[in-house]
Amino acid sequence: TQRTFVLLKPDAVKRGLVGQILARFESKGLRIVALEQRTIDAAQADGHYAEHVERDFYPPLRDFVTSGPLVALVLEGDEAVQVVRALNGATDGRQAAPGTIRGDYSLSNRENLVHGSDSPESAEREIALWFPAL
Ligand code: ATP
Repeated sequence: TQRTFVLLKPDAVKRGLVGQILARFESKGLRIVALEQRTIDAAQADGHYAEHVERDFYPPLRDFVTSGPLVALVLEGDEAVQVVRALNGATDGRQAAPGTIRGDYSLSNRENLVHGSDSPESAEREIALWFPAL
């Protein structure tokens, strides 16, 4: 079994999609290990997106993820990292396949509703950052 870190970004909360998105993860068979609604500041956003801080797209991404409450969670299950990436779909909601979360609900490459760790190593780092007690 494996753990992964997931964010339901502020657009998911604002649009009232938290329940529908969580239902997809739970229906798949993933177990919720931790879940908390939080509002983060710029320094916390920089810590999470350390690998993107220098990228051109980062300043508006930072504004977006600090714009309102988000939901942070840890999911557990067989190959959870890849399974969540597949459920989330491609980064750009306009290109994400129908049937994925982004493909069904997002029309944006920034406001794409969800984040999922991109590797088991990233998952370890992100879980330690967001849920140090786990
Ligand atoms: P995530 O890490 O959130 O699961 P991802 O791995 O599909 O998404 P990354 O390339 O890691 O995508 O980018 C992180 C986030 O930055 C994306 O989810 C999106 O919100 C934003 N982003 C990425 N590329 C762009 C871009 N070209 N323009 C605007 N926002 C972008």
